[in-house]
Amino acid sequence: MSNAEFVQPLSDTVMNMTEDKLTDFQKLVSGIPDLIRLTFGEPGFNVDQRIKDRMIQSINENNSHYAISQGEPELRQAALDYFKEKYDLPYTDIDNVIVTQGVSEGINAVFMTLLNPGDGLIMPEPVYSAYYPALDLAHGKLVSINTRPDDFKVTPESVETAIANADVPVKAILLNYPNNPTGVTYSLEELEALAAVFKKHKLWVISDEIYSELTYDQAHISLATLIPEQTIVLNGLSKSHAMTGYRIGFIFGEKTLIEEAQKVHETLTFALPKVIQDGAATALTDAKDAPNEMKAIYKRRRDWLVPELEKMGFILDKPTGAFYIFAKIPLDMGDDGYAFAKNLAFNGKVAVIPGESFSSATKDYIRISYAASDETLHTAIERMQAYLTTRRNE
Ligand code: PLP
Repeated sequence: MSNAEFVQPLSDTVMNMTEDKLTDFQKLVSGIPDLIRLTFGEPGFNVDQRIKDRMIQSINENNSHYAISQGEPELRQAALDYFKEKYDLPYTDIDNVIVTQGVSEGINAVFMTLLNPGDGLIMPEPVYSAYYPALDLAHGKLVSINTRPDDFKVTPESVETAIANADVPVKAILLNYPNNPTGVTYSLEELEALAAVFKKHKLWVISDEIYSELTYDQAHISLATLIPEQTIVLNGLSKSHAMTGYRIGFIFGEKTLIEEAQKVHETLTFALPKVIQDGAATALTDAKDAPNEMKAIYKRRRDWLVPELEKMGFILDKPTGAFYIFAKIPLDMGDDGYAFAKNLAFNGKVAVIPGESFSSATKDYIRISYAASDETLHTAIERMQAYLTTRRNE
């Protein structure tokens, strides 16, 4: 007798969630021996010792009880101060912040807070693929902008066109910059022009700024400094402080919005462990310089990798942020991104992510993560060169 006779059918929401192509590809290559993975958005650094010491101390203080759901006041205050100092975020009260289980939870909580079933969310594609299932769970509708014709940037014109052509009411737009997968960032002029359109259409703006620490050629500017009343900022410590496994994120926004999002957060997660919140507070105070060294290393890797890839025939714009290179496959390969990435993984022993994981318009691209050690990157480039030479001599 199968389980199906005893249990209720699974909900359509979960059954129909958009397939995560990124996860599928990772599974496909997971069994390949001696594979170098340039697939992860995972900083290859250890957590700063000051943060670790604070967490150990917090364990010894017996902080094993439920923490405050919205986030410990000390951490929320540290977050306000840090993001004010870094990016001039306009929030002044700890009731403008929620501490979430990474930006991942923040995305889900904000989608659920803002979107009623059937509401449209503009997402510029290519895009971080985890937004799709979150949108499905919130019963929102995707209103897509293909950014490829505009050098992977959202423009006021493309927003206007998306709104005019949408067959659902458009409630919000999601921006992610520095961008995963393209590495694109925006200038003040570009953001001001976008803010004017968002204002005109009274759109909520969900600004995923998780890579804000990693801008190489210009300072990060938060949209919240331009339209605070409509912007919800998502940020966290995964990338800035190499704390992916500790799962600390923040939602910043107007108090009424935060009050509603807090109800969702309380249901989804209740609270983050106090020990980790204590470590996070140290990350944003005593260890606020920790991201600087990592940023300098990422920049050096980017500056080395870009010409190496260009020499091999990849076509790309130098990314100005995050730790990804989004590159068009050499034209003489004649492969799409999926075939190229699969063959490179099986025959060249280097894994990169096919561009179709981020949008159907970027099938001829791959994403290469340079969140890997210098040694790993050097070996990967040697292997890619050897693989391409073999292909070209076939
Ligand atoms: N947002 C973007 C754009 C990302 O690339 C990632 C992780 O790769 C996340 C959110 C998830 O971050 P977190 O570890 O804080 O959940």
